[in-house]
Amino acid sequence: MKICFASHNTNKVKELAAIVPEQVSLVGLGDLGITTEIAETGDTLEENSRIKAKFVYDNHTMPVIADDSGLLVAALNGEPGVYSARYAGPQKDDNDNMNLLLERLSNVSDRSAEFQTVITFIDDSGTEFQFKGSVKGEIIREKRGSNGFGYDPIFMPAGYNETFAELSSEVKNSISHRSIAVRKFLDHLHKTHV
Ligand code: IMP
Repeated sequence: MKICFASHNTNKVKELAAIVPEQVSLVGLGDLGITTEIAETGDTLEENSRIKAKFVYDNHTMPVIADDSGLLVAALNGEPGVYSARYAGPQKDDNDNMNLLLERLSNVSDRSAEFQTVITFIDDSGTEFQFKGSVKGEIIREKRGSNGFGYDPIFMPAGYNETFAELSSEVKNSISHRSIAVRKFLDHLHKTHV
């Protein structure tokens, strides 16, 4: 079975392609010659992930998955949420985003936050499924560590004394929002398709 991963990010596609069952051939948007930037116009991760999957299914009628992730900070009513990548502006700069978040939380004592990933899967019959992964933690007051990307240096997962950027990629990958959502999707594939 061929499944499209609705992403232009070839690293993301390769990473997932390596762990799907061998009967599944996972291809990215580039592999299908799709160059469109799919506008993420939703207010929630669920909506944005669904918009991307539906775009591919509606135009190419093939099984597709799409993901959307973000950081939700309780004291900021779920900000930056769907705006995580472009929180400080369209330049999508990780440092600018972290600095803005630290500034907005400078006088805030409730530091609780959660990373979430929502994967939408549309199968060959057009049926939609969503799989959600989340990891709770807190936003510390200064950046620590150099691994990972995005908000990793300021996010400390619950139960750990190191940030995502200080933990090894093995540890981060074993507890991350993305890996939890991916595992749920793979379970679903194993149960239903392969
Ligand atoms: P995407 O939907 O996977 O592209 O994630 C959107 C944005 O959320 C990223 O550009 C990051 O700013 C943030 N983000 C998502 N996952 C992570 C993570 O695991 N660590 C740090 N930041 C993340």
